[in-house]
Amino acid sequence: MSGPLSGWGRYPKIAPDTLTRPRSDAAVAEAMAKGPLIARGNGRSYGDAALSEGQVLDMTAFRHILSFDPETGLVEAEAGVLLGDLITAFLPLGFFPFVTPGTKLVTLGGPSPRMCTARTTCATARSGTTSPGSRS
Ligand SMILES: Cc1cc2nc3c(=O)[nH]c(=O)nc-3n(C[C@H](O)[C@H](O)[C@H](O)COP(=O)(O)OP(=O)(O)OC[C@H]3O[C@@H](n4cnc5c(N)ncnc54)[C@H](O)[C@@H]3O)c2cc1C
Repeated sequence: MSGPLSGWGRYPKIAPDTLTRPRSDAAVAEAMAKGPLIARGNGRSYGDAALSEGQVLDMTAFRHILSFDPETGLVEAEAGVLLGDLITAFLPLGFFPFVTPGTKLVTLGGPSPRMCTARTTCATARSGTTSPGSRS
């Protein structure tokens, strides 16, 4: 058993049976074959969205930016990339994600229902702070 985890609200605190930090798709597949699990990003959910008494997969090792199209502003990145890292990389080029929460300390996979797909890679971050497609 691992130590207790919590979300941003620090309640509830739940200790998973196993907490692993896979570094490859094969390691994720291996964990999935063992049974039900929940993925965890940077733990900034307010409540228990990334908690389990069973198997928890810390996805923060998947933090590579895979591609960037300067014409469209489209970024493909692994789900463990922090929003803040994306901003650090692309704001100097004039691009900013057009959908963001109130903190940059979330992974791309965490807010995935709103920002991108819940896979290890996702597409996000068009240019412009007010409308998709415009440069900031
Ligand atoms: C200060 C603050 C301000 C915020 N402001 C806003 C706001 O303005 N608007 C808003 O909508 N939200 C806001 N949030 C909430 C935050 O955006 C979400 O809770 C976000 O999901 C947290 O991302 P995380 O990486 O910490 O994910 P976690 O909390 O670790 O996980 C969130 C969910 O995503 C799943 N998940 C994580 N990674 C993966 C993955 N790789 N594959 C599949 N599933 C995965 C988890 O299982 C869990 O269900 C705020 C949070 C904080 C702390």
